[in-house]
Amino acid sequence: MTKIVVIGAGVAGLTTSYLLAQKGYDVSIIAKNLPGDIDPEYTSPYAGAEWYSLASKDEIFEQELDKPGYFELRKLAKDPKSGIHIIDSYEYIKFEDADNYEFPWFVDFVEGFEMINDRSKLPDDCKFGFKFSGLTATTTIYLYYLLNKCVELGVTYKRYKLDHINDAFSLHHSGEKSDYVINCTGLLAGKLNGVNDPLVYPVRGQTLLVTNTPKKQLTVSNFEGYDDEMLYIIPRKEGGTILGGCFQKHSTVQEVDTALIQRISERAVKYCPELIDPSINHNKNYLDIVKVNVGFRPYRKGGPRIEIDKQNSKIIHNYGAGGSGYQSSYGMSGKTIELLEKSIKLNGSKSKL
Ligand SMILES: Cc1cc2nc3c(=O)[nH]c(=O)nc-3n(C[C@H](O)[C@H](O)[C@H](O)COP(=O)(O)OP(=O)(O)OC[C@H]3O[C@@H](n4cnc5c(N)ncnc54)[C@H](O)[C@@H]3O)c2cc1C
Repeated sequence: MTKIVVIGAGVAGLTTSYLLAQKGYDVSIIAKNLPGDIDPEYTSPYAGAEWYSLASKDEIFEQELDKPGYFELRKLAKDPKSGIHIIDSYEYIKFEDADNYEFPWFVDFVEGFEMINDRSKLPDDCKFGFKFSGLTATTTIYLYYLLNKCVELGVTYKRYKLDHINDAFSLHHSGEKSDYVINCTGLLAGKLNGVNDPLVYPVRGQTLLVTNTPKKQLTVSNFEGYDDEMLYIIPRKEGGTILGGCFQKHSTVQEVDTALIQRISERAVKYCPELIDPSINHNKNYLDIVKVNVGFRPYRKGGPRIEIDKQNSKIIHNYGAGGSGYQSSYGMSGKTIELLEKSIKLNGSKSKL
């Protein structure tokens, strides 16, 4: 059985490990952080974790990464243990954006796509909207779910912080040298020796977790004077909602921005009044904030790195998911495994020469 060490237990490392184990590989996960940890360098627990592809019409590679997740995560939503649920996802378009608005690339394949043109169903400053059947994961529950799925298939996991990527080869649970290493280190790919990718950078996001629960997911963009902000409302399966947010490039500020809490709260209530409607889901008539989160998306200039290492063909990289790590998890991991199998073939034929 081919021995693999996967570095990282975020959504990328866990999804890759799960898919590898399903294919019969002998996998050990090595990670500084594991599900349950809260650490600014461990992004996955902080996500809104909706499926809403951010790829533009020209970003064909990113589209290919996001598309499989729509179907695979919907399948997992059928398992009540996964923490994933299917919910209608709305977007409202403001008057000033309406004429030049480009519909997202995915409207052709998502289920239940419908236009909203009835102005009585829209906020005053929005000309039209649309909805489709979306999905979202409660990150902490889904990460544990993935880890447990891995363990059921024989994957082991160990907390360990690697100084150099090559050290991973000696950490397979069998005690023997690992045949391959898969690098799913997210933001820390910039700091891991042997990788030290200078293209990785953080994009700060601040969100609120509230107990209020609307019946829909919602996105609204274009808030004057705040180019790096948008409104997203992501209700959780178990109740409660993530309200966001911002996309602050290169910011590593961990402190909460109180003015931003205020802006997010005002926008949320304005565009989704059902959040504070007691006739819906027993909501409080005010936003009941449980927690304010600050997380750092692992962006990479030029896009995610899914690549066989140029120096060592036994290392495959899978990081740099940016703001899309959940929705692209199946696409990124699938492509990573394709590369692994290509490398196994090449290395096999080399050793026969
Ligand atoms: C506010 C916010 C909202 C978001 N919303 C969404 C959304 O709606 N939809 C979506 O799809 N995505 C969303 N994202 C993005 C998503 O969270 C990330 O893309 C994803 O979590 C990245 O996962 P990862 O596994 O690559 O990295 P991480 O989760 O950071 O995992 C990296 C792993 O590598 C380990 N590691 C790193 N270096 C070492 C080392 N030297 N030795 C050992 N272990 C190491 C870490 O300990 C960790 O286990 C959001 C992110 C934020 C912050």
